[in-house]
Amino acid sequence: MENSYEKIWRNCLSIIKDNISTSSFATWFAPIQPVSLENNVLTIQVPSQFFYEWLEEHYIDLLRKTIKRELGKSGRLEYSIIMDNSPSGATTKPFTVPAPTLNKKVLHNPLVSMPINLNQDESKTIPNPFIIPGLKKVNIHSNLNENYNFSNFVQGDSNRLARSAGIAVGQNPGKTSFNPLLIYSPNGLGKTHLAHAIGIEVKNNFPEKTVLYVSAEQFTNQFIDSVRNNNQNDFIHFYQMIDVLIVDDIYCFAGKEKTQDVFFHIFNYLHQKGKQIVITSDLPPVEMKGIEPRLLSRFKWGLSADLQVPDFETRVAILQKKLYNEGVVMPQQVIDLIAYSIVTNVREMEGALISILAQASMNKKEITVELAMMVIDKFVKHTPREISIEFIQKMVSEYFHIPIEKIYSDSRKREIVQARQLAMYLSKTFTKSSLSIIGIKCGNKDHATVLHACKTVKNLSDTDKKYKKCVDELENIIRVRT
Ligand code: ADP
Ligand code: MG
Repeated sequence: MENSYEKIWRNCLSIIKDNISTSSFATWFAPIQPVSLENNVLTIQVPSQFFYEWLEEHYIDLLRKTIKRELGKSGRLEYSIIMDNSPSGATTKPFTVPAPTLNKKVLHNPLVSMPINLNQDESKTIPNPFIIPGLKKVNIHSNLNENYNFSNFVQGDSNRLARSAGIAVGQNPGKTSFNPLLIYSPNGLGKTHLAHAIGIEVKNNFPEKTVLYVSAEQFTNQFIDSVRNNNQNDFIHFYQMIDVLIVDDIYCFAGKEKTQDVFFHIFNYLHQKGKQIVITSDLPPVEMKGIEPRLLSRFKWGLSADLQVPDFETRVAILQKKLYNEGVVMPQQVIDLIAYSIVTNVREMEGALISILAQASMNKKEITVELAMMVIDKFVKHTPREISIEFIQKMVSEYFHIPIEKIYSDSRKREIVQARQLAMYLSKTFTKSSLSIIGIKCGNKDHATVLHACKTVKNLSDTDKKYKKCVDELENIIRVRT
């Protein structure tokens, strides 16, 4: 028979399920086990400290309400956190070499194409230059790019889960429930950056740990080489020595059965030893065609977190960080313009930024909105930009030097009313939005207000030359950006 705490928790889950997305539910609630119910205190077991903190940070209100509904006002929730005691995962353990034969055996480091002979005592060559005989520490070059660290990775709603999970992994490799950690997103949204950042974080926290960043393509080529040179075992041994293995763009394995097979074995070995695996992909596991089901099922053991398109504020922050790192100053209007114009790919956005800087310095021109528009137009030629109501509002706000909040407000001040009416009129002209949508987005006005605004702008344009000039100018500003 089901225990009362199980029943209570089941009821809680059904409430929670209705209130959050399926993927959040699967990630954060499905792994929870109810443990007991005593004195109206429901205890639930969560897989880790991080997990608990995440719940407290993001779902506390929902949990509170749910518990109150199920257990009444005096109901309480307590967590029991599973501590990971697996011996192999001990974080302070010095690096030990798994194979006792290491110094004798020929281990080929697949990351090095030109073997260097470091060994003078033995007649046999040791083609792995990273193994220093006599030292029990293996020094493998991590392949990490120092610039791709966490402090350069701007946080936003679009990357919150992946970034937090990445930090947790960086602080506790192999010991969180995020093993493997799979990061996926379309191109140019920061997977590679985040993958490096995790590696760097591990290196900072645990210098003795062996971290390796490798692209799936590199891995594949090394494997093919090892088959050709008949040293597959060395290849496998090499990978088995890694504490934190980061494989970028795993989807490159699609259709390559032998590579997947060898990766499967390495994966199992490392996972079993409590070593951390981080994977990136441009597709979520369910859509990875050509990847064997047994490998896919391994990917699902840990956490899959996606990177989404960053919102406007995050895009601006990314550009600002980049500029700060480069030690360059750029007018805010230009930064905003770039962030407005290039939406779905951070790499392209950075490309535009660099081109603008280059254009300005090569031609000794000032960085102006006009120059930026020219460059951006070249960048985004193939993707016709859709003008949004928000963009128009921003242009109007800048043109009149009136803060956007005032445009949204109910103020009846003449200049504010005028700006608001123009924003409505231009939204009607340049977007396909209905009058009521425009009204809602201009501070919850009704559609009649928008209609009235459009008529007023037309009438004034016909009778007031100065006003008409204003409208024309604004239209031009917006037009050159389409
Ligand atoms: P992906 O691997 O997903 O194709 P990258 O990691 O190569 O994307 O990112 C493309 C560029 O965008 C990199 O220069 C990276 O530094 C930058 N970038 C992406 N997201 C962020 C972010 N949140 N903060 C700072 N830079 C970012
Ligand atoms: Mg990448």
